Amino acid sequence: MKAAPDAQKRLIDLQELDSSLDRLAHRRRSLPELAEIERLEARLAELRDAIVAAETEVGDLDREQRKAEQDVDQVRARAERDRKRLDSGQVTSAKDLSGLQTEIESLARRQSDLEEVVLEVMERREEADGRVGALRADLAKAEEELAALRTRRDEARQGIDAEAGMTTTARAGVAGDVPDDLLALYEKLRGQFGGVGAAVLYRGACQGCHLALNTVDLNRIRAAADDEVVRCEECRRILVRTAESGL
Ligand SMILES: [Zn+2]
Repeated sequence: MKAAPDAQKRLIDLQELDSSLDRLAHRRRSLPELAEIERLEARLAELRDAIVAAETEVGDLDREQRKAEQDVDQVRARAERDRKRLDSGQVTSAKDLSGLQTEIESLARRQSDLEEVVLEVMERREEADGRVGALRADLAKAEEELAALRTRRDEARQGIDAEAGMTTTARAGVAGDVPDDLLALYEKLRGQFGGVGAAVLYRGACQGCHLALNTVDLNRIRAAADDEVVRCEECRRILVRTAESGL
C-alpha cells in the first residue's frame, strides 16, 4: 500500500485521538460512582425488605396484643359475675360459696398472668416499632446518598461526553486527511490489536509493541520509498516514520 508521508503522519494524530476516545469511554464505564451506586442500591433493597419484615412483626404483635386484652376482659367479666352472685346473697350453700370463692381467686391469678402477657407483647411491639423507625431513617439517608451519587455520576458523564464530543469533531477533521484504503487498514488493525492500529517508529523501536526492530527489518524500512506504508514485523501494526525514527 502507498500513501503520502504526510498522510501517514496524520494517521498518528488519528491514533492519538482514537486512543483518547477509548480512554474516555473506559473512564465513563468505570466511574467510581457506578460501583458505589450498585452497592447502595443493594443496601436500599435490603433496608426495604427489613422494613417490610419489621412492619409485619408490628402488625402481628398488634393482633397478639388485642387478643391478650380480650382474654383479660373475658376473665375480668367472669370474675365480676361471680362476685355479683356472691354479693347477691342468693348462693347459700357453704359448698357453693366456697366454690365461688375459689373460682374468683383463680380468675384473679389468671387475670394477672394475662395482664403480664399484654405488657410483654406491648414491650415487644414498641421495640419492633422502634426498629421500623430506625430502618426508615437509614433508608432515607441511603436514598439521599444515592441521589447525590447519581448527580455526581451524571456530572462526570457530562464532562466526559463534552470532551468526547470535541475529540470526535477533531477526529473527523484528521480522518479526512487520510486516504480511504489506509484508513480502512488502520481501522481493521485497531480492531485486531487492542485499539492501536498505527505506531511511530522511534529510535528503531515500534511504539505499538515497544520492541526494537532488528537490523534486517530496519534496513528493509530504510530502503522502502517514503510513500510505502510499512508494517512492524513483530506486531503487524502500521509503522509511521518520522525524523526521529533512527533510520
Ligand atoms: Zn510493533
